[in-house]
Amino acid sequence: MQTLLVTGGAGFIGGQFVRDAVDNKLARIVNLDALTYAGNRDSIPSENEHHVFVQGSINDGELLDRLFADYSPDAVVHFAAESHVDRSIDGPGAFIETNINGTYQLLTTTRKHWQGLSGDTKDGFRFLHVSTDEVYGSLGAEGYFTETTPYAPSSPYSASKASSDHLVRAWHHTFGVPTLITNCSNNYGPYQFPEKLIPLVTLNAIGGRPLPVYGDGKNVRDWLYVGDHCSAIRTVLAQGRPGETYNVGGNCERQNIEIVRTICRTVNELCPNLAHECESLITYVTDRPGHDRRYAIDASKIRDELGWDPAHSFESAIVETIQWYLDNSTWVERVLSGEYRMERLGVGE
Ligand code: NAD
Repeated sequence: MQTLLVTGGAGFIGGQFVRDAVDNKLARIVNLDALTYAGNRDSIPSENEHHVFVQGSINDGELLDRLFADYSPDAVVHFAAESHVDRSIDGPGAFIETNINGTYQLLTTTRKHWQGLSGDTKDGFRFLHVSTDEVYGSLGAEGYFTETTPYAPSSPYSASKASSDHLVRAWHHTFGVPTLITNCSNNYGPYQFPEKLIPLVTLNAIGGRPLPVYGDGKNVRDWLYVGDHCSAIRTVLAQGRPGETYNVGGNCERQNIEIVRTICRTVNELCPNLAHECESLITYVTDRPGHDRRYAIDASKIRDELGWDPAHSFESAIVETIQWYLDNSTWVERVLSGEYRMERLGVGE
């Protein structure tokens, strides 16, 4: 069984990847996560023979050395990042520190470890960097991002992810490290921190709070169920060619306002006893500075070369996702109250 060093595996997408791997005994996971506000141990399995959890930062070179020495991973799957665009506008520093400097540190340690390997272990080693379609900037009404679309990031978040992508490519071209990059569209699903559009709107709709929509609500995103993103990552890890980039998307473009209306309809259907009509809570707010208009992914490379396709339709997976937030009120309440952070900070319950 392979050992994977997963970074950011207590976050939204990394957590799904870890749960899939541990529940299905696909690999042994060494899960390195700094447990920032976005990391949550309630979202991941407890430690067992398939899951080692280490609280620490990808910026900590000594810790990384120790993890490579102790566990000799067969691959690194790198999710750890600061990931929220609005936070990157309010405070870009953390994004530079984690997304750029942290990726640099992880690449440096990975290279050292990889150089010390030999034979099949060295040939089979991979470093998979999980990135975003936001590095490509904004599209007009037509066209799609392909793997050769020039980078044109607009926000501090996307600029920091673009930088990390360039570093990863450089470590392949210059040092030969067998890297892979995935650039994926917007994800949705269970366990997402409720600052992102779908969980925020879902929980506010249930709670009767305003549903903020940026600008005219007509910005378009391509949406992919998080489980499908993780299956794409497993596919690229197993079959991708070192040095290559693969775009991952759901072929599911929706305007933000359509997403919000779908959530409103679904919440009212799933909760017939709610006293309010959720759509009446929609509140247009001043647009985000530098807000990209449209993202759309051409995922034909991963489909044609590696045979990957999403397994979930948006129509059914969004209903399952909303049902999940309704069914998991303990997880939701511990996040909303901040209680999920107390234990790690050593604060009494
Ligand atoms: P997230 O914010 O939910 O999780 C990030 C995780 O990284 C958290 O658990 C956090 O504690 C951890 N972390 C932060 N700084 C760290 C550090 N210095 N060392 C170790 N761990 C650290 O993010 P997500 O939505 O799960 O995204 C995961 C990755 O996927 C990111 O790299 C993001 O850029 C990328 N991505 C996200 C989306 C999306 O829609 N959410 C889409 C495409 C790509």
